[in-house]
Amino acid sequence: MSSSNPINLADRYALLQADLVRLEHAYYVLDNPIVPDSEYDRLYRELLEIEALHPEWITVDSLSQRVGGAALKEFDSVTHAVPMLSLNNAFEDAELVAFDRRCREGLHIDQVDYAGELKFDGLAISLRYEHGSLVRAATRGDGASGEDVTANIKTIRAIPLKLIGDNIPAILEVRGEVFMYLKDFQKMNTQAAAQGEKEFANPRNAAAGSLRQLDSKITAKRPLSFFAYGLGALEPQSWLPKTHEELLNAYVKLGLPVCAERRVLKSVEDILVFYGEVGAKRDSLPYDIDGVVYKVNSFAEQAKLGFVSRAPRFALAHKFPAQEALTTVLGIDVQV
Ligand code: NAD
Repeated sequence: MSSSNPINLADRYALLQADLVRLEHAYYVLDNPIVPDSEYDRLYRELLEIEALHPEWITVDSLSQRVGGAALKEFDSVTHAVPMLSLNNAFEDAELVAFDRRCREGLHIDQVDYAGELKFDGLAISLRYEHGSLVRAATRGDGASGEDVTANIKTIRAIPLKLIGDNIPAILEVRGEVFMYLKDFQKMNTQAAAQGEKEFANPRNAAAGSLRQLDSKITAKRPLSFFAYGLGALEPQSWLPKTHEELLNAYVKLGLPVCAERRVLKSVEDILVFYGEVGAKRDSLPYDIDGVVYKVNSFAEQAKLGFVSRAPRFALAHKFPAQEALTTVLGIDVQV
C-alpha cells in the first residue's frame, strides 16, 4: 500500500475510489482503457487492502462490492436470470494454497478436484437457447443486467444459431467469452490505420467495441470468435451433468466451441504445473489470455461453497504478469 500515514488513509481511499470509477468507465463503457490492466489491478488491490483494515468504510456501492461495467443506454436492457459475476484474482502461489485450503475446509473434505482452463481476455456474454434455438444474447453489464446484443451476436460464425444432437435442454444459457484471434486483430488494425480510422488498443477492446456496435452490419465485418465456459439458466435442472468438465463436454456435443486447453487438477501441485505450462505457451497461443481459471469441478460442491458479493467462492483467476504497455495519464501517485 502506498499510503502508510493513517491520517491520510481515508483521503487515499476516496481518491482510489474516484480514480477506479474513472478507469472502469473508460474500460467497460467506452472500451478505451486509460491505463494498463496491471496498473488497474494494483490500484484495485490497494483498495482491498485498505478495506481489510477498515471494513466499516465499505458501502453497498463500493467498487469491491459490485461487478464492473454498465450498459450503454442505446441497447435494450436484459435482466440476467442468474447473475453474471466476476472472479476473485490471485497473483501469488500462497493465494492458491489459501484458496485450496478454504475450499477443502468449506466442504469438509481432504481433496478437491478443480477444472483448470484458460482465462480468455475478451468480453463475457450470455447466450440463451430455447429448445435449441438462439433467442437472446446479453453482455455482462453490471452483473444483474446487461445489453441485448442478439443481432450482433448472430453475426459471429463460431456461435451456433441452433444447437445440435439429441440431448438439448428446453432452456440453456451458455456463458462464455467473445474474443478476437490475434491475426484477425492485427489485420483489422492495419486496415483501420490505412483508412485513417481509429485503431483499438488491444484485442480485448477490439472485441468489446465490435460487439457493442449499434449497427450489426459493422459487427458482421469484425472477425469475432467465441469460447463457452459456463452456465446461466437451465431447464430442466435434471439435464445438468455432475461436473464442470462434463458440462463442457456436453457443450461440445451441442456444437458449441469449447477450448481444448483444459484439464482436471487434483492438488495445488497440479494447479501450479498447469499454470506454468500455460504460461510457457502463452506467447504462442493464437489469442490473448491474462491468466488461468480454477473452478471446483463438482456442481454440488460449488453450490455448497456459494458466492461472496461479486464473485463465486468456488473459482479463482490466477493472473499472469502484465504484457501490455499503455501511457499512464492518471492524476494519482502509483507505487508498487
Ligand atoms: P476479470 O477479468 O478479473 O474476471 C472475470 C471475467 O473473466 C469474466 O467476466 C469473464 O469475462 C472472464 N473469463 C475469461 N475466461 C474465463 C473462464 N475460463 N471462466 C470464467 N470467466 C472467464 O473480471 P472483471 O471483473 O471484468 O475485471 C477485472 C479485470 O479487468 C481487471 O483485473 C483488469 O485486468 C481489467 N480492467 C482493466 C481496467 C483498465 O483500466 N485497464 C479497468 C477495469 C478492469
